[in-house]
Amino acid sequence: MKVLVCGGAGYIGSHMVRRLIQDGVDTVVFDNLSTGHRESVGGASFVQGDLLASSQLRELLSQGRFDAVMHFCARSLVGESVQQPYAYYENNVVGTLNLLQAMREAGVGKLVFSSTAAVFGQPEADLIDEAHPTRPINPYGASKRMVETILEDAARAHGLRSVALRYFNAAGASPEGDIGESHSPETHLIPNMLRAANGDAPTLKVFGNDYATPDGTCVRDYVHVDDLADAHSRALDFMTSNDGAHAFNLGNGAGFSVMQMIDAAGQVAKRPIPFEIAPRRQGDPDRLVASSAKARRELGWQPRYTEIADIIETAWRWHRNPRY
Ligand code: UDP
Repeated sequence: MKVLVCGGAGYIGSHMVRRLIQDGVDTVVFDNLSTGHRESVGGASFVQGDLLASSQLRELLSQGRFDAVMHFCARSLVGESVQQPYAYYENNVVGTLNLLQAMREAGVGKLVFSSTAAVFGQPEADLIDEAHPTRPINPYGASKRMVETILEDAARAHGLRSVALRYFNAAGASPEGDIGESHSPETHLIPNMLRAANGDAPTLKVFGNDYATPDGTCVRDYVHVDDLADAHSRALDFMTSNDGAHAFNLGNGAGFSVMQMIDAAGQVAKRPIPFEIAPRRQGDPDRLVASSAKARRELGWQPRYTEIADIIETAWRWHRNPRY
């Protein structure tokens, strides 16, 4: 089996690449290194390139004899997407269209696509399943939902097989401690908490404590990156016997507020996390928690990391000694 991993040098992509290599899959990474890290892909073949420069992509796909593509390339910050919508639609939608066209020309008919809980917009249920309406409220979520629609059309028109995996909050790091989350600037909660604990970053800002949640801070569903990688491997298998375009929600089904996360991280780091209450961040819904019953049923997916302390522990191992 040979797989092209677009965006394989990023946070989630690099954990996927490690898993593929462990499984003996011939793995080629394609990444523009705009936010990814060359060091994170280990022994996989690496091609530096951009989905928006399609001739390079076409050549790679037409010569590569790939069985499937996994597509992690995206701009993924909600607030930034509100400020820079064109950049989000161009990168996430036009970039994906280039990939799909190049795949079609090369006769590659299977895709696993990184989607997001942001396709749902304001949640209307405590547990969000796949039947929940998709009404994104920011350009990031809208760009991902547009791609899901394109994949549905591509299945009908061209027989493309695809699985869109809607991650809730990706978290943690490889237990080996040598790959992990590293963004600049860092905007995510767990890295910011742990960097504040370490003294590598200023006091954590808690974005809003007047949400409609028990303690007023936002509730999210944190799922370990290696569990996400496992779902992708299962999605590859799933496509061998299922045609059409499919979507699955991936989370642990348990919600933690920002204050609960601060408490859990303080216990893992064995020191309090310094924090202050700050204004709300644009585009944050009160609560996003997944029902992953469909993924469990149809992919046989079962997250291994179900305790929030264990997830944070892997991130802490990385943040004490980040390699990049
Ligand atoms: N958050 C926070 N301070 C930070 C980063 C995040 O209070 O420095 C909050 C954010 O408002 C959200 C939750 O933590 O409610 C998770 O945010 P993150 O950016 O990690 O993921 P997102 O939910 O945006 O995918």
